[in-house]
Amino acid sequence: AVPLVVAITTSVAASKGVLVRDRLALEAARELDAVIFDKTGTLTTGKQGVVDMAVMEGWDKDSALALAAAVEGDSEHMIARGIQEAAQKKELSLPKVREFEALKGRGVRARRGDHRVFVGGPRLLEQLELEVPSMLQSFANGAGEKGQTVIYLIEDEALVAAFALSDVIREESKEVVEQLHSMGLEVVMLTGDSQEVAKAVAAELGIDHYFAEVLPDHKNDKVSELQSQGKKVAMVGDGVNDAPALIRADVGIAIGSGTDVAVESAGIILVKSNPMDVVRVLKLSRATRRKMI
Ligand code: ADP
Ligand code: MG
Repeated sequence: AVPLVVAITTSVAASKGVLVRDRLALEAARELDAVIFDKTGTLTTGKQGVVDMAVMEGWDKDSALALAAAVEGDSEHMIARGIQEAAQKKELSLPKVREFEALKGRGVRARRGDHRVFVGGPRLLEQLELEVPSMLQSFANGAGEKGQTVIYLIEDEALVAAFALSDVIREESKEVVEQLHSMGLEVVMLTGDSQEVAKAVAAELGIDHYFAEVLPDHKNDKVSELQSQGKKVAMVGDGVNDAPALIRADVGIAIGSGTDVAVESAGIILVKSNPMDVVRVLKLSRATRRKMI
């Protein structure tokens, strides 16, 4: 049987856009030590816009952007959308590409004629064992310092361009971190994005600890890492690649319209994309305990 107080709390919660799929999750939420947030789409809006770009000698910006947009053509990733929109705004016609493939947590690839083309971030460069030429490196450093995500265009093993994309931190995020701190909770951020971006966002929000350049399959390992330190952990995420981490956490919280996979993996679902609802639901779980005593 479900304790009455929990049942009532659950229906109150539902009216505020908080759905409790697993009542044990609400009870576990009282005992937490740390809350881990996925960065993109959770602490930030997730919408990416191209704010700057640089090309190697022999390339012009429009052809580099058009090629990147073509290769990103079949990707649903917000980074892909940002690059496609930038090309659309300039009304560029895109070259034909084929054999598109998404490289999870790294980028995308396709072929244009005889050329192999890749678009992606630092983990892609690592996999391809590519060094960034100094010209693009200084562009990347500048963008990184501003907290922008840097994405590279590679053709036939040569880096030809870099794009700086900026995502926007949600208005509420800073307050969320402060409130969780005042509740005695440690706040951790988890992201597939670069070290530089993670560092900038964590500093801006006053986040205690972050893990960056985490491949999708390794997000749940980071949850386990904290649990192995004896901590009870909540994980807040929205994406398909957050699902294993949501399951692994003591309390999994899916946020926003979320993907079905994320929603099915979470004990608690926050219908709106407002991270302040994380604070609300944790306070609600603590209030429930007081009523029961
Ligand atoms: P997150 O959910 O933290 O954004 P992802 O695993 O979706 O993490 O992406 C991690 C990184 O992989 C991105 O920051 C980017 O560097 C690279 N990446 C993933 N998909 C794409 C894509 N379609 N185009 C370019 N880069 C990508
Ligand atoms: Mg995400």
